[in-house]
Amino acid sequence: MTTIRELADTVRAGRRLSAADALELYHRAPLPLLGALADEVRARKHPDGVVTYIIDRNVNYTNVCVARCNFCAFYRPVGSSEGYVLGFDEVFRKIDETIALGGVQLLLQGGHNPDLPLEWYEDLFRAVKQRYPSFKLHALSPPEVIHLTRMSRLPVGDVLDRLIAAGLDSVPGGGAEILVDRVRTLLNCYGKATADEWLGVMRDAHRKGLRTTATMMYGHVETVEERIEHLTRLRDLQDETAGFTAFITWSYQPEHTELGGGEATGVEYLRMLALSRLVLDNFPSLQASWVTQGGKVGQLSLAYGSNDMGSVMIEENVVRAAGAAYCMDEVEIVRNIENAGFVAKRRNMHYEILGDPYFRQQDVPRQLELATARADGDTSRPEELRLYAARSAAEKRQRAAENR
Ligand code: SF4
Repeated sequence: MTTIRELADTVRAGRRLSAADALELYHRAPLPLLGALADEVRARKHPDGVVTYIIDRNVNYTNVCVARCNFCAFYRPVGSSEGYVLGFDEVFRKIDETIALGGVQLLLQGGHNPDLPLEWYEDLFRAVKQRYPSFKLHALSPPEVIHLTRMSRLPVGDVLDRLIAAGLDSVPGGGAEILVDRVRTLLNCYGKATADEWLGVMRDAHRKGLRTTATMMYGHVETVEERIEHLTRLRDLQDETAGFTAFITWSYQPEHTELGGGEATGVEYLRMLALSRLVLDNFPSLQASWVTQGGKVGQLSLAYGSNDMGSVMIEENVVRAAGAAYCMDEVEIVRNIENAGFVAKRRNMHYEILGDPYFRQQDVPRQLELATARADGDTSRPEELRLYAARSAAEKRQRAAENR
């Protein structure tokens, strides 16, 4: 049997860990050793002592979703009185607020809404690019792309081509959960995208020149072996395409979900993060998930393999709905980075450095109370919806009632 010391030597020599090695480390390596190894790898890849972050805004354009994943507290079924679709004007307002805080992109994701066809996304992207030509759209995770292939009856490549032509800049790695179909079936997310479908969208996106991220949500029904299988599948694709910029992992947030259960601890998070850094030897960046773990564990992540603090929180709706309520503005993020002994720099989605902290160059309000996606209970329907044929029975009924 390989000893932990031999496995540590493997990492230090820059050699690749097998799935069996990773499992051994997960179960038998002391946490401080895992952290020290992950920190060595992080320092090897990022010797300049810089920790980056991005100022962007997480906008969820609709909460209406037919996928009904049982771990999700965010979605509302078609026809729900709490369902919403953002109007284009609302998206523009959110972009204006983001730019005022130094933001450079929207992370645009939402439910699988049957009343939003591919054309709605194309029109929205074009409208954004027309108004804000240099503003970036990091949009539509692989399951949303799969949903659009089903709605449009087009292959993934064609849907991506149309979205890119309309203004898509990069693809977020959401919806990966655990890339093992046994787990996806138990989470009721096999239907939205199988593991192969998720990886297939990313492969196509990389081949078309888009950069993407990858995620992992652990701590629900999966085994540790399945977490490691998830990581090795991502590593294999990265060997093939080199299209992933970063990996982000977070623990399942159980509040208000159908699946229920408990939440993994901070120690478990740090163990998974460090192990991810060791297994994903071909990923340049690992983000700290402080939104689910809190600022202090987020800061500690920088000693467990992370080199990036993710996004300044201007708006977040999905994990907030499931109980995660941590919030940090740019000042707080920079304080956490600098107190951990690193240099804080702003970046874009391609991890290119944009500059020093924005609040040091320009006065911005602290901890803005910005409108979140329809948190005010507004359920009015945007004008643009009428431009597209109604597909759901609920939308058809609503329009018939309005036309009477
Ligand atoms: S996780 Fe996404 S796809 Fe699944 S139910 Fe929630 S909004 Fe829909």
